[in-house]
Amino acid sequence: MIYLDYQATTPIAPEARDAMLPWLGGPEAAGFANPHSPHRPGRAAAAAVEFAREQVAGLLPPGGRVIFTGSATEALNLAILGSGAKRLAVSAIEHAAVLDTARWVQPDARILPVDRDGVVDGAADLKGLDLVAVMQVNNEIGTVQPIDTLAAAAHREGALFLCDAVQGAGKIAPPASADMIALSAHKLYGPKGIGALWVRDGIALTPLIHGGGQEQGLRSGTLSPALCAGFGAAAVLARDRAEADAAHIDALWHRARELLSRWTLNGSPDRRWRGNLNIRLDGLDVARLMSDLRDIAFSAGSACASGSGRPSHVLTALGLNPKEAKSSVRLGFGRYSSYREIEDACARIEAAAAAQGV
Ligand code: PLP
Repeated sequence: MIYLDYQATTPIAPEARDAMLPWLGGPEAAGFANPHSPHRPGRAAAAAVEFAREQVAGLLPPGGRVIFTGSATEALNLAILGSGAKRLAVSAIEHAAVLDTARWVQPDARILPVDRDGVVDGAADLKGLDLVAVMQVNNEIGTVQPIDTLAAAAHREGALFLCDAVQGAGKIAPPASADMIALSAHKLYGPKGIGALWVRDGIALTPLIHGGGQEQGLRSGTLSPALCAGFGAAAVLARDRAEADAAHIDALWHRARELLSRWTLNGSPDRRWRGNLNIRLDGLDVARLMSDLRDIAFSAGSACASGSGRPSHVLTALGLNPKEAKSSVRLGFGRYSSYREIEDACARIEAAAAAQGV
């Protein structure tokens, strides 16, 4: 199996898995205590959580606090609903975790369009808003958004700025001008089931989950020290390896582009994270391609949208017609993808497409 779906999730780094093991302890091991218990093993588990919090904070700007959540989806819900904002603007290419939550609050929330390259207009009208949300790196097409410009514009209008940094965290510099930033461990080689919301000091949120008052009163429920430790270790590794990872991914990107040179790239060629190659070929039957290549794991769009039968909202926001959107595939690669795998996969994708006569 060749795995080319790094935007859906990444393999867990061995270092992150190792960091989790002591906190998964069985009856005879120490590390199973509740991190909210005041006894000694509980305090040790709490210390592991706080250590991990510092490690995750290393991926984020100074001057804020990290709240652990069960996922980035939860973090984004906490930011949008917990801020109490009523007048919202979100980009047309946000993940459903932002789009659907914004529309839940305000069914006619303002939708900020993108250009043909998949980039939000930095001069968008942000008047009269309480909250603006634009993602750092898009999950379907990899485009990098002008966060500083948009956050400055939101601030001039007195609005808060939320950034979904799920696909950029640990890969590119954090969106330092945002007021709130959402992350997910499983997109940066950590475990599934844990995310985080970074909140700039001075911003008050209302909790969505009530109970024991954990996570600074904002997210009740017992934390998993194992998940926190895995997230923390993955965050440190991502920072340490950011340059090497990016160089490796750049080399894979160039090779894939050479091998699939007749395919059209979706999204900007320059303003993008290169571990995301979203391409199309007119007339391609993507379902047939996927069934011909069952041992290559890639996506027909975003993991959430594929299977729904609807063309991707991201690709249609770029101006692609439904046929073009439906003839697109997303190849996602990363730290553990090898040059050889990319060459094999691209050659087989090209041959299977040619066999369709397109
Ligand atoms: N935002 C983006 C850009 C994503 O790619 C994803 C996951 O697909 C999410 C948010 C949701 O993350 P999680 O799986 O942690 O809820």
